[in-house]
Amino acid sequence: MSVDARQSLLCWYAVDKRRLPWRAEAGERADPYRVWLSEIMLQQTTVAAVKPYFERFTTKWPDVGALAAADEADVMREWAGLGYYARARNLVACARVVAGDHGGRFPDSEAALLKLPGIGRYTAAAIAAIAFGRRAVVIDGNVERVVSRLYAIATPLPAARAEIRARTDALTPDEGAGDFAQAMMDLGATICTPRRPACAICPLRPHCAAFHEGDPERYPVKPPKAARPRRTGTAFWLEHDGHVLLVRRPASGLLGGMLALPTESPAQAKWTDAGAVDHVFTHFALTMTLSCARVDARPEGLWWPIERIGEAGLPTLFARLAERGLAWREAAAQAA
Ligand code: SF4
Repeated sequence: MSVDARQSLLCWYAVDKRRLPWRAEAGERADPYRVWLSEIMLQQTTVAAVKPYFERFTTKWPDVGALAAADEADVMREWAGLGYYARARNLVACARVVAGDHGGRFPDSEAALLKLPGIGRYTAAAIAAIAFGRRAVVIDGNVERVVSRLYAIATPLPAARAEIRARTDALTPDEGAGDFAQAMMDLGATICTPRRPACAICPLRPHCAAFHEGDPERYPVKPPKAARPRRTGTAFWLEHDGHVLLVRRPASGLLGGMLALPTESPAQAKWTDAGAVDHVFTHFALTMTLSCARVDARPEGLWWPIERIGEAGLPTLFARLAERGLAWREAAAQAA
């Protein structure tokens, strides 16, 4: 990209950038806490899904010190529904390291940021560039797409990543790397979209190899898709006196640390099959069947009032299973 092209991109960004709650206005300094929080939330999650969570988190925990002092279970509950729950546990761990070891201020270099829990290569670069104005090479899925189209990179992903990184590095300016990264991300999110990119209004069109070839959607070239394995399991809805039995899942592993329905039979009971829920995780698809029962003598455990089940902060899979449990309950009440 020539200096001219970069200039056109930045001019376009100055006028058309997305107004996002975590973004500083022109002339304001970005708040590293808000940049960090938004970047963690945005991993594998859309801007639209993140916005209400970001608003709630920053209202409840306005700075890193407040989040460091938060009860982890409370944070997990607020995170419920956003997915990839290891992020929430790392969020608290990271806030505590920043508060405890760095005097409540995020370190400003990529290398030091990389040492914090839950901060990987992309996030360290994004925070260093956006919050601290450091030169850093920031590559998310949007940047990957824009760069692979600009240069019509024919190598399939993931092998293409080395070339994409080298190209992005060469494009990144010494000053204003944060604006440049955000401009590339915005272009990818709003104009150079995965399908039907709006090349007609794109500031980079004169410089874009894929546009000149005539088929930009071809890039980035994807590897052949591997089939996602399917697993099955059973969850248990056990009721006693208006309460349902919940468990806290082990800290490590799938949906770690979250409240959930038990996935091993918690009691001897007359179990009824109440249907199944399909859910897709990153590496596999899961079909989970729900078994429901009521008991007179309740086993030890975490019994949650059924009428307040919506406040338990169940992750999406278990929230959907709980809806099935509620439907079973209503049907049983009508039949009685
Ligand atoms: S011209 Fe089209 S393909 Fe090229 S960067 Fe712009 S939107 Fe993307």
